[in-house]
Amino acid sequence: MSHLPASIDFRANVRQVPPALPAAVQKATAKFLGTRAALVDALGHDVWQALRQAGHDLRLHALDNLDRYLEQAERQVLKAGGHVHWARDAAEAQRIVLDIAGQHRARLAVKAKSMATEEIGLNQALETAGLRVLETDLGEYIVQLKGVGPAHIVVPAFHLSTEEIAALFREKLGVEAPAEAQQLTQIARVKLREEFLRADLGISGANFLIAETGTIVTVTNEGNGRMCCTVPPVHVAVVGIDKVVPDWESLTVLLKLLARSATGQKLSCYTQFISGPPRSEAETGPKELHLVLLDNGRSRILQTAETRETLLCIRCGACLNVCPVYNSVGGYAYGYPISGPTGVLFASQILGAKAAGALPFASTLCGACNDICPVKIPITDILLQLRHRVVEGDAQESAVAPYRLQLAAQLGSFALARPWLYRLGSRLLAWLQAPLRSGDWLLRLPPPFNRWTMARPFPAFAPGFRAWWRSRSHHTRGRS
Ligand code: SF4
Repeated sequence: MSHLPASIDFRANVRQVPPALPAAVQKATAKFLGTRAALVDALGHDVWQALRQAGHDLRLHALDNLDRYLEQAERQVLKAGGHVHWARDAAEAQRIVLDIAGQHRARLAVKAKSMATEEIGLNQALETAGLRVLETDLGEYIVQLKGVGPAHIVVPAFHLSTEEIAALFREKLGVEAPAEAQQLTQIARVKLREEFLRADLGISGANFLIAETGTIVTVTNEGNGRMCCTVPPVHVAVVGIDKVVPDWESLTVLLKLLARSATGQKLSCYTQFISGPPRSEAETGPKELHLVLLDNGRSRILQTAETRETLLCIRCGACLNVCPVYNSVGGYAYGYPISGPTGVLFASQILGAKAAGALPFASTLCGACNDICPVKIPITDILLQLRHRVVEGDAQESAVAPYRLQLAAQLGSFALARPWLYRLGSRLLAWLQAPLRSGDWLLRLPPPFNRWTMARPFPAFAPGFRAWWRSRSHHTRGRS
């Protein structure tokens, strides 16, 4: 029933990337990074760093006490008249939502943007069961019309131009659609409004779940989220267990970090709080509220000290915007609904090294993601750990890397641990590379290294590296 890929071939996916895509992605990410930087500057470096540290500490505290806070959230939701379901994996979460839909003979479900439902392939499961599922976030609506998934976790269709969207609307909706953003939004608004009124089921995710009061928090910039959660008679929120935060005070810190990092806003336009169904006839809103708490590999991630901080993520998308790999290949190359550095961390651990072993290598390890992450996730450290899992295996999984890669890693590690061998190898490489060298670069290398030089030059091997490093260390020590 799951739509999750059996295996992700990152390299094959990259070959499918349209040539015009990187420029479109870079234009969009530059805009978000620019507005974010202006707001962070306005706040001041020290204040921003203090906020990041507070965000990191309170998310870590929530993870360290996940059982307690989840049980507290469950009690509060039940007390408020909601229903709580626990889903071990994607299949179980799909079954729970299908049962709810069946009990209400639902035929149309409207959805707010939710990465958790993308992760479990909920649309496909509902459609297979005969329901019509409509994405109502404008970006999600556009990519659904196009028949693809989100290309970015915050702005799913940001790589498409208004011309492309107008052509899509003309083709799929049969309307006159000019290539003008406001008019396109108006067309979508009119179409969606009719559907909200007809829908039997509203489905959302959550940005946070407040344990103190069992409140589901959704953050959006469009009114669609509010319509999904209030107009249909039944509301189902599918929420990863990592989304729980202790209290409202924690939320105030995280909302400040999220809006600035995601879209360069002080606060998103709509922050919605759902604390149970209406308590009296006078109150409006869905008559039934279901909270589906999704594990799907998260408790396994939590058990591994080296990678558990993956779960601190607040899905702001900043690490995607700053990542040179994401900017070169866009979201679809990752083959998983969550893309970019955070997507690599989640996909590698949720799907496992066998299915997603290529992803931890889709990084330059430049560390820009570490620097920008609002909750200070050590992304590159986790990536290295995940590479280690692929090549050598660990307590979670056994090695899956091809034998030649494992052998190369072992040889490299053997040589680097023996200075005499390293020196000998350096001299040999310097001699071998001489005919290929052009200044400081190697423009063409023989197979299999030509996979690199087909796209870019390779830095020439510097035999004097050790001497340079020693003199630099000596110099630095002398100054300190
Ligand atoms: S890893 Fe950090 S920067 Fe990336 S989406 Fe998550 S919170 Fe944002």
